[in-house]
Amino acid sequence: MPTSMITEARPIQFSAPLPAEVDVVVIGAGVAGTATAYFLAEAGVRVLLCEKGRVAGEQSSRNWGWVRQQGRDWAELPIMIESNRIWRGLAERTGEADLAFTERGCLNLAATPEVMAKYEAWHEIAKQHQLDTRLLSAEDVAREYPNIAPPPGGKWLGGSITRSDGKAEPFVAVPALARAAQRSGAVIIEDCAVRTLEREGGRIAGVVTEKGRVRAKQVVVAGGAWSTHFAHNAGLSLPQLTVRSTVARTEPAPDVYGPNLSTPGLTLRRRADGGYTITSGDLAEHFISPNSFRWLGKYRKLLKLSAKDVKLVPAAPKGYPGSWGMPRRWRADEQSPFERRRVLNPDPSPVVVKRIEERLPQRFPDLAGVKLAEAWAGMIDVTPDAVPYIAEDHRLPGLFYATGLSGHGFGIGPAVGRVMADLVLGRPSGHNLARFRTNRFEDGSAIEPGPY
Ligand SMILES: Cc1cc2nc3c(=O)[nH]c(=O)nc-3n(C[C@H](O)[C@H](O)[C@H](O)COP(=O)(O)OP(=O)(O)OC[C@H]3O[C@@H](n4cnc5c(N)ncnc54)[C@H](O)[C@@H]3O)c2cc1C
Repeated sequence: MPTSMITEARPIQFSAPLPAEVDVVVIGAGVAGTATAYFLAEAGVRVLLCEKGRVAGEQSSRNWGWVRQQGRDWAELPIMIESNRIWRGLAERTGEADLAFTERGCLNLAATPEVMAKYEAWHEIAKQHQLDTRLLSAEDVAREYPNIAPPPGGKWLGGSITRSDGKAEPFVAVPALARAAQRSGAVIIEDCAVRTLEREGGRIAGVVTEKGRVRAKQVVVAGGAWSTHFAHNAGLSLPQLTVRSTVARTEPAPDVYGPNLSTPGLTLRRRADGGYTITSGDLAEHFISPNSFRWLGKYRKLLKLSAKDVKLVPAAPKGYPGSWGMPRRWRADEQSPFERRRVLNPDPSPVVVKRIEERLPQRFPDLAGVKLAEAWAGMIDVTPDAVPYIAEDHRLPGLFYATGLSGHGFGIGPAVGRVMADLVLGRPSGHNLARFRTNRFEDGSAIEPGPY
């Protein structure tokens, strides 16, 4: 059976001799780092993409595969609209069929007036961008989606659909983008953790990897859940915490639900293999770590907004990013935490799996009897306002971040890569990136969480 995630068991597919010098080193081959390397290589830049484990081994192969504009933060939306455009042309542009984007729309249903009011408010933002978002009334939902059962004891009050949204297959798409980057000239090396930064005269001079030293004037940190720890070791604070999110896929089943569907307590997306990627969407587990205490104040608002869906777990398993006992500092000649955990492969939550199994036949009766084939989990990196860092570090010229994508980075990943490549090249990005700056949690400005 095809699987949905990449682990250490997958043979290495990207290896090369370590170059002594490049223009740019990109740390981490998830969707953000891979897309950055792709666009830099296309621009003729000498780029090295280092991955401690496997390309897309962490969040970027494990996500739901939604490529979604609907419901995005106001500042992310223009970048996401660009990403939607990039996705549509990626397969043809790269010659990689695995980068296929399928337009199926995203549909969210509301069971309470509060949620419906949120959709209505967001619809105003959609209109400003001439998006094809449409609000659905209760009657529209009943007529157009009769095979979605109402919430227990209630009814659908309406919904919101953006037809131009869609899906891609994460665990094949991101490695395909890496192959395209490689063909354009990027050097990509798996099993190659970057341990430390090297500086000269207050600027970036290169990195030290577990395989040796590489000189470079610019470095992009795209390390997902690990970025904050890499930055900390370099003496730079970059607030990020993580949550575990669990997903499952079904065995092949009839194609009866058109768009990606988000309903309270259950979401699903049609897969290319004929099954559905499915989850309860109402449980994110935060493993308490020293950083949870350090940054509690910064996360207060987000925690309040998401409290009903977040469960606090006393401690992360050993070796998880930020876990108790994980070294906080290491030297270039020491093994780093990144090499000790090549691929972060959390166990799925049995609570979520049980919820999916119970709710699937109730909510989606046409899928009653369809079995789950596999469940897995990923650790999501979340910033205090649930929008990314897409910026040059305000303290260290030459150091850039494409990280903190906060649970919605797969869809926007290609445009984050395009924007990051232009930032590194000193070209205008075409977007207002002020919301994504690195000093926003220490410059006294109010923390305003986006939709998480
Ligand atoms: C269950 C789940 C469902 C999701 N659903 C969606 C969705 O439907 N749509 C959507 O848009 N987003 C979704 N997301 C979010 C999305 O998957 C992430 O935001 C996105 O994949 C993050 O990409 P990234 O490149 O920043 O990080 P990652 O994919 O985590 O990649 C970071 C990489 O950096 C490597 N690395 C770290 N440190 C080092 C180092 N020092 N040296 C070398 N390598 C290093 C890691 O090994 C890793 O491979 C979901 C996430 C999860 C977990």
